[in-house]
Amino acid sequence: MIDPATEKVITKVGLGGKREINLAVQAARKAFPKWSASAPDERTRIILRFAELIEEHQDEFTELAIRDGGIPRAIAETCPFFCALFLRYYAGWPTKITGQTLPSTPHGKDPADVLAYTLREPIGVVGGITPWNYAFGMEMLKIAPALATGCCLVLKPAEEAPIAGLFLAELAHQAGVPDGVFSVVNGLGHQAGAALAEHPDVDKIAFTGSTEVGRLIVHAATGNLKKVSLELGGKSPVFVFPDADMDLAIPGVAMAGFAMSGQNCVCGSRLYVHEDVADQVAEGIAAFASQLSLGSTQNANTDVGPLISAKQRNRVEKMIRNAKKQGATLVCGGARGKGKGYYIQPTLFDHCKPSMELVKDEVFGPVIAMQRFSDKDSFEQLAAMANDTCYGLSGSVWTRDLEAAMVMTKAINTGQIGVNCHAAMDPSMPFGGTKESGWGAEFGEAGIELFTKDKAVTLMWN
Ligand code: NAP
Ligand code: MG
Repeated sequence: MIDPATEKVITKVGLGGKREINLAVQAARKAFPKWSASAPDERTRIILRFAELIEEHQDEFTELAIRDGGIPRAIAETCPFFCALFLRYYAGWPTKITGQTLPSTPHGKDPADVLAYTLREPIGVVGGITPWNYAFGMEMLKIAPALATGCCLVLKPAEEAPIAGLFLAELAHQAGVPDGVFSVVNGLGHQAGAALAEHPDVDKIAFTGSTEVGRLIVHAATGNLKKVSLELGGKSPVFVFPDADMDLAIPGVAMAGFAMSGQNCVCGSRLYVHEDVADQVAEGIAAFASQLSLGSTQNANTDVGPLISAKQRNRVEKMIRNAKKQGATLVCGGARGKGKGYYIQPTLFDHCKPSMELVKDEVFGPVIAMQRFSDKDSFEQLAAMANDTCYGLSGSVWTRDLEAAMVMTKAINTGQIGVNCHAAMDPSMPFGGTKESGWGAEFGEAGIELFTKDKAVTLMWN
């Protein structure tokens, strides 16, 4: 494993394949009957203990998060907090997963002679396949609902962030998660990942990653028609209206694009600004970006870390070159950081066009593509600009005008939208994408639904 901040090999991790996936799935199958029938309160206690252990190992956790994916220290420090918060939220669920009683009268039966209800049951053995960005968090989105619902989970983490999952499995084991209930198999996507996705004894795949691999997962799942949930890529639109509070909006839209060096699915990479404030916003973002420190992930003051790999940096650099060639105006950034590590400066392009690659494709780097709009553009036209993409994950609207906020939040076709905030996350709020950004939503009750199924039961007498 290579630390993207230093380009040095920092550890070696076992490479699992089909054989290891088979063993983990067998162990999960074996554990499932007992775990799925365990007392809800027992699962709550184990999940709460897991959260406590994460907090007890907070420092170690942060150090691993810094190296696992090249996350700057200040963001890595949020990883244990996020994981514990998420576990505690799901710890409340086992005692609240219920079915319904229904007023069913099949074949004209007297209602007095029928009892109809649904049982909400765990979906079974789940394969989790996750990306490298914010790996601890991405993995926890699979682990917590699996434990809460009584499912067994086999997790295949990303090859570029292989240590988070191993650490989480160790703590889960210490918390009392029984053998086979949660296993981790490190390995390559086209080997271990593909073996899990096509495994005939896996009931569901919960995938987070690119839209491209999401399609492969769907194809691989056809053998036993396993259930699939997908959290995929995005190209999230951000609108700044002229009445917005600029002290809030400028840093807000800058960090929507630059946080995690743009390596997050909710990245606000398409910026639309009203012409009256466009110069002010562009200059404001450039000034804000110049204050961001690009540097060592170990340094507590670093705001922007490296990209995950040389391959990813080269890809982002190519997109920057193409944007220049296609006539976009470079406002700030556009170059590599100094020294070792796969750094790219926070970058803003103004005067972009809808047809440009930078506006259409997910960059996964700290690059914002800005376009300008005017009073001539109706809300309907603005929403059409926002929706002119195959993605539908997140977005935000920066305004103090209630009408603009209400009309735009309804008209933008995404799974998540913020007003005067971008990608506000909370364990209770559902998160998922429309269109090619995914199938299903995680977080909140939606996450419980993804890991359970309804069985309809009808009892009759007379
Ligand atoms: P990726 O290339 O799609 O990989 C995701 C996972 O799938 C990795 O574990 C990968 O293994 C595995 N994989 C690759 N090929 C596979 C195959 N044929 N069968 C089964 N598994 C396979 O994504 P990434 O580059 O790691 O992450 C970036 C992408 O994730 C972006 O598009 C981003 O938008 C998306 N993302 C979405 C969300 C969301 O919640 N919507 C959150 C975070 C990231 P290897 O690592 O070994 O290749
Ligand atoms: Mg990949």
